[in-house]
Amino acid sequence: MVKRALINIDYTNDFVAENGKLTCGKPGQAIENKIVSLTKEFVHTGDYVVFAIDAHEKGDPHHPESALFPPHNVIGTKGRDLYGELASVYRSHKENKHVYYYDKTRYSAFAGTDLEIKLRERGINEVHLVGVCTDICVLHTAVDAYNKGFQIVVHRDAVASFNDAGHKWALEHFANTLGAKVI
Ligand code: ZN
Repeated sequence: MVKRALINIDYTNDFVAENGKLTCGKPGQAIENKIVSLTKEFVHTGDYVVFAIDAHEKGDPHHPESALFPPHNVIGTKGRDLYGELASVYRSHKENKHVYYYDKTRYSAFAGTDLEIKLRERGINEVHLVGVCTDICVLHTAVDAYNKGFQIVVHRDAVASFNDAGHKWALEHFANTLGAKVI
């Protein structure tokens, strides 16, 4: 039996808004309606809905991303708030016991978090991935999900990147190498 979870990855102001610190820009903004409708659908069917959201301490000298990217998703800033209508969808359902929001500190939603335990407790065997960036945090989450034996579904109209070539490459990688359904 298929038991599903939706994993919302990093759909925050810093990654999506026009003035975001590390924004995907237009491609990121273009997937808002699809992410919102999928999130509402999974809430209404009673499936597990996860928000795995990048969290950085200001000026953290130990974090490897500090050398790679400008500061982004800093704890306590507006940049880390969910973008657009997804923010209000989350607010309306945050008390729902099937909705789980947590901080992650690496690209993968599994790295150093209790996501796997939460999914296993619930008997979930299929993870649906949405959010940004297709070729960074969505990719690393998909690789971990594959290695842990989860079936993967990637919603192509609900993932985006600032890097169009990387986006396209990752979609092929999900299907051809990770056995994901890309729908
Ligand atoms: Zn980050």
